[in-house]
Amino acid sequence: IRYNSARYLTSASKLNQCPEDEGAEVAFAGRSNAGKSSAINALTQQGQLARVSKTPGRTQLINFFDLNIEGMRLVDLPGYGYAKVPIALKQHWQKHLDAYLQHRQCLRGVVLVMDIRHPMKEFDEMMVNWCEVTGVPLHVLLTKSDKLKKGPAQSTLLSLRKSLKEALGDKVSVQTFSSLKKSGVDQLRERLDSWFLP
Ligand code: GDP
Repeated sequence: IRYNSARYLTSASKLNQCPEDEGAEVAFAGRSNAGKSSAINALTQQGQLARVSKTPGRTQLINFFDLNIEGMRLVDLPGYGYAKVPIALKQHWQKHLDAYLQHRQCLRGVVLVMDIRHPMKEFDEMMVNWCEVTGVPLHVLLTKSDKLKKGPAQSTLLSLRKSLKEALGDKVSVQTFSSLKKSGVDQLRERLDSWFLP
């Protein structure tokens, strides 16, 4: 799959606004500021793409991007943890994220983006739990790995991999990533390819 051919398709604030539930999707999730947009940009080599999701008014939406193979899409799920957002809006996001995760048949896997310095916050726990319950494969990107020395980055990677494997077995994988250094992009592409083209 040529990820750099990704193109913005549409946005949905409700399940019934999503594209037809057919083909295959891989969804990106993460707390706000974890580095999700930067990771999508590094993957697709398009500075503009995830910016779509940051356009005021679009941040609470689920954003869809077409890939070069018909019916294959990347999905940018709403970021979580904006302290200043009213509780009602948070609940709205939660509801629609839940609905998407629960009902989307074409979902092949979830990429959960975490800041390597702050892994496994409450939102991350929730996503891991959800994957455990549903059996949807999970790939964790420990991003901003350039912010840590090699030793600490590696030990975070190994300990998180170990604990997640205990819960999810071979349905989980974990890697370090840096959008700044463009490291880990090939590994991410290989994981996505394995989901899209099993
Ligand atoms: P999002 O809210 O999860 O989409 O996060 P962004 O992609 O907008 O990134 C949040 C902040 O972290 C921005 O200031 C980015 O420049 C920075 N950032 C993202 N990825 C990296 C990375 O790999 N390395 C470093 N050093 N900074 C990063």
